[in-house]
Amino acid sequence: MSNTTALDVAWAIDWLRRSAAVVAENRVLLSELDRAIGDGDHGENLDRGFSAVVEKLDAELPTTPGAAFKLAAMTLMSKVGGAAGPLYGTAYLRAATAVGDAPVLDSATLAAALAAARDGVAARGKAEVGDKTMIDTWTPAVDAAANAAADGAEPAAVLAAAASAAEAGAVSTDPLVAHKGRASYLGERAIGHRDPGAVSSAMILRAAALAAGGES
Ligand code: ADP
Ligand code: MG
Repeated sequence: MSNTTALDVAWAIDWLRRSAAVVAENRVLLSELDRAIGDGDHGENLDRGFSAVVEKLDAELPTTPGAAFKLAAMTLMSKVGGAAGPLYGTAYLRAATAVGDAPVLDSATLAAALAAARDGVAARGKAEVGDKTMIDTWTPAVDAAANAAADGAEPAAVLAAAASAAEAGAVSTDPLVAHKGRASYLGERAIGHRDPGAVSSAMILRAAALAAGGES
């Protein structure tokens, strides 16, 4: 498996298409997770949003990774209700701003874009690590990406490191009480349940790594 896929617009589009596919495949699972500690709509919300992203990608041809991220941001913000739409929309919008009109992302730019996305979610949702939200996925992913990039890893390896840390981050929400979002109304009854947004975020970050060909 090649480790050298350039993070160009083709990668960004493939990432978004793979995100749509993994969300569609896991629509029921994501809504079941949300039914346990929320209102049961997370899978439907994201599936609707990413399906619309794919339709937009079919109609428009973004020419840079940043343009693809911006398309995703605008579409997710307008199509996904609830907490997750604005949060994911902000993540993609901040990533788009971070990469500007670069045709190809190097490891440092990629790590900076992931950090900007996380910072956008944190600014919008005011959640910190340990609050049982998607931040528990994004922050370890951003840290792993920064470390990998600083060690000189190729972009695909940076994404693979981020995805693995993201998956561990999602699992780390299991024992937590929620301090943000609907799950915070449950108090200790949220303990033992995995946060749906943390899970969808890990799926989306894994999709980024798969699009880069760093992992099968
Ligand atoms: P809603 O809660 O409005 O029904 P979703 O079900 O689509 O929206 O998304 C719920 C997810 O959103 C949660 O699992 C959590 O990861 C994330 N979330 C909710 N509130 C926040 C917040 N303030 N900061 C970060 N993430 C949040
Ligand atoms: Mg919900």
